[in-house]
Amino acid sequence: MTKTTDLSKISIQFIKGVGPARMKLFANLGIESVEDLLYFFPRRYEDRRNLCPIAQVKIGEFQTVCGIVESCIERRSFYNRKSVTEAVLDDGGGKVCCVWFNQPYLKSYFKKGTKVVCYGRADVYKNRIQMVAPEYEVIDPEEEQGPAFKSIVPIYSLTKGMGQRYIRNTVRICIDKYHEELVDELPVTLRNKYHLANIKRCITEIHFPQTFEEQEEALRRVSFEEFYFFQISVILRRLSIKSKSGIKQQISDSMALEFINNFPFLLTIAQKKAMRDIRIDMAGDHPMLRLVQGDVGSGKTLVALFGCYTAFKNGYQSCVMAPTEILARQHYDNILKLTDTGALKGLRVALLVNGLKKKERDDIYAKIADGQVDLVIGTHALICEELNFKNLSLVVIDEQHKFGVRQRALLSEKGKNPHVLIMTATPIPRTLCITLYGDLDLSIIDEMPPGRGKIHTVHKSHEEEQAVYEKVKSLLAKGTQAYFVYPIIEDSETVDLKAAEEKYQEFKNKVFKEWNVGLIHGKMKQADVEQTMIDFKSGKIHVLVATTVLEVGIDVPNANVMVIEHAERFGLAQLHQLRGRIGRGKQDALCVLVSDPTTPDGQKRLHAILSTTNGFKIAEEDLLIRGPGHFFGRHQHGLNELKVVNPLSQMDVLELARKEAFELTNQDPVLAKAENHRTKEIIKKRYPNYLLMVAAG
Ligand code: ADP
Ligand code: MG
Repeated sequence: MTKTTDLSKISIQFIKGVGPARMKLFANLGIESVEDLLYFFPRRYEDRRNLCPIAQVKIGEFQTVCGIVESCIERRSFYNRKSVTEAVLDDGGGKVCCVWFNQPYLKSYFKKGTKVVCYGRADVYKNRIQMVAPEYEVIDPEEEQGPAFKSIVPIYSLTKGMGQRYIRNTVRICIDKYHEELVDELPVTLRNKYHLANIKRCITEIHFPQTFEEQEEALRRVSFEEFYFFQISVILRRLSIKSKSGIKQQISDSMALEFINNFPFLLTIAQKKAMRDIRIDMAGDHPMLRLVQGDVGSGKTLVALFGCYTAFKNGYQSCVMAPTEILARQHYDNILKLTDTGALKGLRVALLVNGLKKKERDDIYAKIADGQVDLVIGTHALICEELNFKNLSLVVIDEQHKFGVRQRALLSEKGKNPHVLIMTATPIPRTLCITLYGDLDLSIIDEMPPGRGKIHTVHKSHEEEQAVYEKVKSLLAKGTQAYFVYPIIEDSETVDLKAAEEKYQEFKNKVFKEWNVGLIHGKMKQADVEQTMIDFKSGKIHVLVATTVLEVGIDVPNANVMVIEHAERFGLAQLHQLRGRIGRGKQDALCVLVSDPTTPDGQKRLHAILSTTNGFKIAEEDLLIRGPGHFFGRHQHGLNELKVVNPLSQMDVLELARKEAFELTNQDPVLAKAENHRTKEIIKKRYPNYLLMVAAG
């Protein structure tokens, strides 16, 4: 099995039409090699085999039409003075008016005489056919004769400065030139067993399918391969950790009760179960490797603290790593309250974040190294090389989807086979969870603490925005605080940021001028974001305009209103996480989704988020929606390791791959047999981080 050419080593500059400037753009998309590009799959497809003549458009249905721009104007809405762009398309047999809100720049795309394809739902408004915010693509006259026109057209994720047509052509050239060099990595036995097509054909069919069946079949083949090797790596990792001896830590029933009884509230049954799991694990022969999964607000912190308490009572140190400084501080403040008289009496806790003064930091380092600190709360700063523990026995990772396997491994190396406890609020169905985090044992917190207010979620269109502001004002007058959330999508980052900033100005100077308004977004200095959050938390700021930086874990019980603008542009999981920021106090909360969904999937997602606040149900719903586009953005899983496939849409393949991976590792747990050498090589190459621990041990 000799490899002819390693496509991961060939730079895309060897593809015709890719110069230095374009290389930079590709790098933005994470594409550097020919292999990267071949595996950069379309985000979705557009079926342009049958364009619908405008005269035959069915009202109320989603269709693709194609016409020449007859006119395009920008005006202001009567209701709220917002920008409205209207382009009239004519295909000779009929006309359709396409309308977009708040995207004035569109006018420059739709010059009179250009040919445009639009996909959206047709309505009748003022006696004419219209599509509100359809998806669109300007057709290049040259391409119209070409293969991409009346076919299934791949649509890729883009970066600023790169068009669909360019990337489509480049992929085409790349496939023509290199696809013969693709090497099938799957063992022949498996390929034969499941009648899997050759990788060369699959890659071509994923980019340029003749039919959707063909595309799906090809994707299954590629998914199977990816899952198979991924699963093996996960299993190997677990085997290696579980073969080590752990630090046995027992606590008596009375000690456990002392912890539990020192809280001002009763623990939920789910919390108790998770604590029992942890107690058993920590007392066992091998290191704990446990994932605690529970919806936002389900009370995971307490469960983790029980682990820290157990370590403390046994004379060992523990640490908690949180994804942001503000979250680390929040944990620290809460824990401090428990150390005087509460459940963690006597425990010495330290906070370690970036940006401490050298003296201060050295002081903390010294205390940690000689055991004067029992629990360290921190951010990535914990991974710092100079930090040494005296006897670290438990590592807790909060909000794990923000960290990679590598960080988890590096932190663990600060102890001698410490117990590892991972907390996640990513609500994925159990079956999927077991498969994806096969190296971890699982505790699920499927119950919310009692006494919380209800979250009411409502949907409003952009035209109703004034009414939304009035509603928010009336709630502010009652003493609540409010969030306004704006989407930031990479493709249109600059425009999006501008939209958020403009809103902030408008709110500050007009709409909410009697209140204090704050703004946070990802491009601001971290310190400014933190200060604004602190001011919001303390009540100095009443209205917070924010982007998705809000997503992770901050607790402001008095903020009980959230307005999510352009809700259709967020993923389901993201919407759910965002909404989890409110309803944390006793009062009922209100979540307003402002959106004019333009696709059937957009509508289904909206329906899903409106109909339940249960994260697991939402996740299941997401599985059902599937469809084009992966709305459960991959970064949401923390599954950076999986590159090409969205596991949520490929459950059956995933399970099959898992079964085969188990079969292999059962027969050959360290892949020592000659026939498995190639597999081992592939895993080393694809998942180096999963082997970190194996190498270290
Ligand atoms: P998450 O699972 O999102 O990390 P937290 O651990 O931050 O949730 O808990 C959210 C809030 O609920 C905290 O203010 C915490 O004190 C409170 N809490 C946790 N468990 C209970 C309980 N059993 N009863 C009442 N309140 C609880
Ligand atoms: Mg939490």
